[in-house]
Amino acid sequence: MIKPDAVENGHIGAILEKITAAGFKIVAMKYTQLSVRDAQEFYAIHKERPFFGELVEFMTRGPIVSAILEKENAVEDFRALIGATNPAEAAEGTVRKMFAKDIAENAIHGSDSDENAAIESAFHFSGREIF
Ligand code: ATP
Ligand code: MG
Repeated sequence: MIKPDAVENGHIGAILEKITAAGFKIVAMKYTQLSVRDAQEFYAIHKERPFFGELVEFMTRGPIVSAILEKENAVEDFRALIGATNPAEAAEGTVRKMFAKDIAENAIHGSDSDENAAIESAFHFSGREIF
């Protein structure tokens, strides 16, 4: 997902360009907005964390771009492309270093395992929307 902050700041095109230039194939994509229930479900793993309310408010405040990406070693390579959760700690040239404000508003989400990528793909897309 390209998160609401990056959409608000006009970075959709630049982020997609970096993703495709890095060799990822876009097999599904949509411009949409998460409801509070959607965001609570998507980030359910963090529901006991102190920042959960803030996270749900942030993720629902405006539209996002969700996509399914395909590549060899996609999860690891995508996490490397987006950089550390906190942009202050993200490597030079990563999406979060370039476009994120702070640890909360950090521009982009990437799945953290193949298993979660499959769950998150089904959360965002029906079979007819995946190519
Ligand atoms: P994501 O799952 O969005 O790709 P991540 O895997 O790098 O991010 P997680 O630990 O899964 O990091 O945290 C999920 C999201 O919750 C972060 O991307 C960020 O938006 C928010 N978040 C994480 N830690 C904090 C924090 N300490 N304060 C505020 N928000 C936070
Ligand atoms: Mg995560």
